[in-house]
Amino acid sequence: MYCLGIESTADDFGVAILSFDGRVLSNANSAYMPEKGGIHPREAARHHAEVAGKVLAEAFERAGIKPQDVSIVAFSQGPGLGPCLRTGATAARALASYLRVPLVGVNHCVAHIEIGKLVTGAVDPVTLYVSGGNTIISAFEAGRYRVFGETLDIAIGNCLDVFAREAGMSQRKGAPFGAMVEELASRSKTFVPLPYTVKGMDLSFSGLLTAAVQILHERKHSLEDLCFSLQEVAFSMLTEVTERALAHTEKLEVLLTGGVAANKRLQSMLNVIAEEHNARFCVVPKEYALDNGAMIAWTGILAYKSKITLPVEKSFVKLKWRLDEVYAPWVEG
Ligand code: AMP
Ligand code: MG
Repeated sequence: MYCLGIESTADDFGVAILSFDGRVLSNANSAYMPEKGGIHPREAARHHAEVAGKVLAEAFERAGIKPQDVSIVAFSQGPGLGPCLRTGATAARALASYLRVPLVGVNHCVAHIEIGKLVTGAVDPVTLYVSGGNTIISAFEAGRYRVFGETLDIAIGNCLDVFAREAGMSQRKGAPFGAMVEELASRSKTFVPLPYTVKGMDLSFSGLLTAAVQILHERKHSLEDLCFSLQEVAFSMLTEVTERALAHTEKLEVLLTGGVAANKRLQSMLNVIAEEHNARFCVVPKEYALDNGAMIAWTGILAYKSKITLPVEKSFVKLKWRLDEVYAPWVEG
């Protein structure tokens, strides 16, 4: 049996086909790239609508199966940008209705954790999920993924992206802003003090961003030094909270996922705390750490096996659907 999964929460439109035993047959994607500024929700949604047919066709072609072979259709129901979510949901509803197969609505954050577990072999990790739109420290406890800590304002990826844009960098395909900041940071060891904001188990990056941008425009420090310092402060904040979640839960694995997981400096900081707590450190490979259809298809399969489906007439999108609102009976088996 096969599940087709559609991801469309933000800038990525992804379609993947997975077998029920967790084999990825295809994982096709098209990313919207704004000419300038951040993601414009309606522009991104227009991109998704334009490429949907092509990405779907690519997913079927690479998987080598026909639409009639699909047993269920899963889609990212939230959280995310309204117009983007609705475009993916519309495609999913149309497909499920046409094929007369069940529809499953998947929480995007849960999906990041589930695909991470599938591809790294982690069983019950503390997860640090860091992306352009999310920053969450989570672990499973009594039927749900609980949020141990999260950002109170902007996501870490957004913080890095805005800083890079303020510094005049321009994004290219295959070269995200975060990777450019990482490259510049690797050329410096000079620390410029910046505000470090951890409140209880939660984090705040907006003050850090404002301060970094202000110092950047004063031109007293090099861009390399500022990239280095921004990373050191932001990643130390993330590492502190993740370590406390690990100490509290006594889990035996740390899972790092989301677009920012590609960062080697962040990986090395987390590796240190994992070792100190005798936990295995697992990094999700880029293809499955970035937003992708495979994570939606896999979580759709897990939910479906727990008898969770969604009638088309109730399949409205949920822009602010929190990770800890999702009942996840499949985790405990
Ligand atoms: P996502 O939201 O999961 O699609 O991931 C996109 C985010 O990952 C953007 O904010 C990127 O700047 C960030 N990102 C990608 N590569 C890196 C890297 N090497 N270091 C830090 N951030 C990165
Ligand atoms: Mg993305």
